[in-house]
Amino acid sequence: MKAERAWSIPYRIKSIIGSFDIDDLASVSLDSYKEIFNNNTLHRFNDTMASVFYEAVHDIKAKYNGDASRIWSNNSSSAKVAYDFLQFKGSGKKIATMAANILARQFKVPFSDYYSIDISPDVHILRVMRRTGLVSYDADLDSVIYRARELNPEFPGIIDFSCWEIGRTWCRPNHSNCEECIICNDCKKIL
Ligand code: SF4
Repeated sequence: MKAERAWSIPYRIKSIIGSFDIDDLASVSLDSYKEIFNNNTLHRFNDTMASVFYEAVHDIKAKYNGDASRIWSNNSSSAKVAYDFLQFKGSGKKIATMAANILARQFKVPFSDYYSIDISPDVHILRVMRRTGLVSYDADLDSVIYRARELNPEFPGIIDFSCWEIGRTWCRPNHSNCEECIICNDCKKIL
């Protein structure tokens, strides 16, 4: 499913429940969340994601006193933030680093370092990294992570969003609009 749709799920739940207060969210049962997810087709895997959402709400209440920003406040290290995100049900390395990356890059949340924010490669990022020649044409996702670390060890994930956007906008699977692509002059165009 599209990233925009996935990231909008909390907002849609807020609209449906009429509140985003943690106590109100925690008062909704797992069965009710399953009903909300299924009735509104919030996700492809509605029962699983309803359970992930339900567990996350209760984790935030229990571990962070209902305040999720405690995960990243106080100038936390990037490793601490990624670690905390990893503890949520359904979260893996890719989601944990992506969430930390969005906080740092988009919301300008200050961390004490950015070393542990890896690139979170998907098909778009892999395609762009291969075509630009930053990795070999048959490189896998792990190779992309290590190349990004080599390119910018202080913040490996800094190129994540740029590669993703280039892949979604110009560097499409079946068509490369190199003339209009913002990195046209620097790309090796290995097509
Ligand atoms: S210049 Fe062409 S091949 Fe290179 S990233 Fe842009 S669209 Fe893709």
